[in-house]
Amino acid sequence: MAKCPLCSRRSAKRHCPAKGVKICPTCCGTHREVEIECPSDCTYLRAGRTYDEGRRRSPPPPQREFGPQFRHRHAGVIAVLAQAILSEREDTPSLYDNDVRDAFEALKATAKTRASGVYYETLPEGGAASMGLYRRIQGLIDRMMEPQGPGRDALRAGDVPDVLDFISVSLELHSGGRPKSRQYLDWLSSIAPAPTPDDQGGLIVP
Ligand SMILES: [Zn+2]
Repeated sequence: MAKCPLCSRRSAKRHCPAKGVKICPTCCGTHREVEIECPSDCTYLRAGRTYDEGRRRSPPPPQREFGPQFRHRHAGVIAVLAQAILSEREDTPSLYDNDVRDAFEALKATAKTRASGVYYETLPEGGAASMGLYRRIQGLIDRMMEPQGPGRDALRAGDVPDVLDFISVSLELHSGGRPKSRQYLDWLSSIAPAPTPDDQGGLIVP
């Protein structure tokens, strides 16, 4: 059997769709979503995520609890933001879970200053991908905070940190720990309805 081209030692048994060659199971497991840009539909990636999750099932770090009332009240805004994350991924296929994390940490910092009445913008520390997502989400928040049409409430500054925190918590629950993980993004795609061509449209869904 041919040798794995990554380690040049072990037998190449798994077809790696990212590399376009067969590699060994050890290199697949070690480099998956670390150095290798794994496509979301790779069967070894999926099996690997399930395996990682089984090992991670020690109690997750304490997270905020969001009751049904919170979810109901903010369902429309949360859906808009979730859709915006997926639209950003379509525009920037290289987007990782880590970029989403960077963007949301900055968004939360910005939102907290705004809720306290001193608007000070914190920008994400990551690269262009997190900045793109930050700008998209911040633009949506600005628009949802403007006066809305009849029968529609504008998003209140005091609610924004909580809504952003809700997304952060779901990201921590669903992301893998690997640097190039897209496990959260794949999870979000799996639960979202098909994207609309324009996420700037009907903003607050009742
Ligand atoms: Zn190898």
